Amino acid sequence: MIAEILEKVDRDKELTPAEMKSLLEISNPSELQALYDCAYRVKAKYVGKVAYFRGIIECSNICVKDCYYCGIRKSNTNVQRFQMDEEEIVREAIWAFENEYGSAVIQSGERKDAAYINMIERVLKRVKKETHEKLGITLSLGEQTEETYRRWREAGAHRYLLRIETTNPELYKKLHPEDHDFETRKQCLALLKKTGYQVGTGVMMGLPGQTMDDLVNDILFMKELDIDMVGMGPYIPHRDTPMGAAIPPYTEEQKQAVLTLGLKMIAVTRIVLKDVNIAAATALQALEHAGREMGLKCGANVIMPNVTETEFRPNYVLYDNKPCLDENSSMCRGCLTRRIQDIGETIGFNQWGDSKHYAKRVRNP
Ligand code: SAH
Repeated sequence: MIAEILEKVDRDKELTPAEMKSLLEISNPSELQALYDCAYRVKAKYVGKVAYFRGIIECSNICVKDCYYCGIRKSNTNVQRFQMDEEEIVREAIWAFENEYGSAVIQSGERKDAAYINMIERVLKRVKKETHEKLGITLSLGEQTEETYRRWREAGAHRYLLRIETTNPELYKKLHPEDHDFETRKQCLALLKKTGYQVGTGVMMGLPGQTMDDLVNDILFMKELDIDMVGMGPYIPHRDTPMGAAIPPYTEEQKQAVLTLGLKMIAVTRIVLKDVNIAAATALQALEHAGREMGLKCGANVIMPNVTETEFRPNYVLYDNKPCLDENSSMCRGCLTRRIQDIGETIGFNQWGDSKHYAKRVRNP
């Protein structure tokens, strides 16, 4: 049965939702390996065996949102809040550029005040200028207005990541306070497209109450929205959050189960969406040391090495066991480079590594 589905993939036939679900439900180790290998063939065919690096700058943990799962939610008083100054963000972006990363991601908690919006705009302009327009910039700064998205786009950002978190509206409600609106988040994805970004979205896997049908629907949502990039990862409890406090920390067995679920989602998403960019989330590495490389072997083609100064890292902890908190950016570069070469892939140094899907989407709208 599984072999037949995978054969269909190799013949470039579209899968039905039921077939996607069967793949997500695999538990037998040899079938699992067959799934990963099949997704890897799709990846090699559509986007190549190249891993692109995006240096991620976690520039602030100040957040107006209060998501029940997230370690930097507004109500968590155990976090020491920080905001990097403009110089610091620019310096880290230039570090990424000089270390041949090709692209950087600027991520933070959500803020919509004018001072913050203006600051990001200035940073974008400076980074573009100081890297002679050569560094690609992705933003991951949450829900904003059309005008803000447009200003940041004009200032030089060209990709934006906004995870929908889950596409089941009922589950979304359980993960967020009342005023966090699923429809608004969806609307933001449409605005990002309208304002000309390469758009990325994704979900968390292994959320309490989430079903396999939800995950199939998540993949179908991304397909229907015709998104360019995927950033998704396993949910990991954070002890200072309402959701994390309600569940005991993962046992080794649970860790392996969520890791496998995360890898299966990457594989099936690659099989269904084919030519998009898919990031191997850092959360995979919180579950298993080689988690991100495993993600590449199952179909992901983007890795986001941390380029945040070590002193800020302990305060940007979205989930427990976040890796690399005591390392610096050079250590992360060396370590990841070695590990990726070990699995036989090349690294797309000095390239933007844009989504091939995007190129096709704008050529044939
Ligand atoms: N404020 C921005 C960036 C958020 S942090 C935004 O809203 O888009 C990036 C991602 O971390 C979130 O989208 C969420 O999916 C993920 N995340 C937060 N808490 C997590 C947890 N406990 N386990 C796994 N991922 C988590």
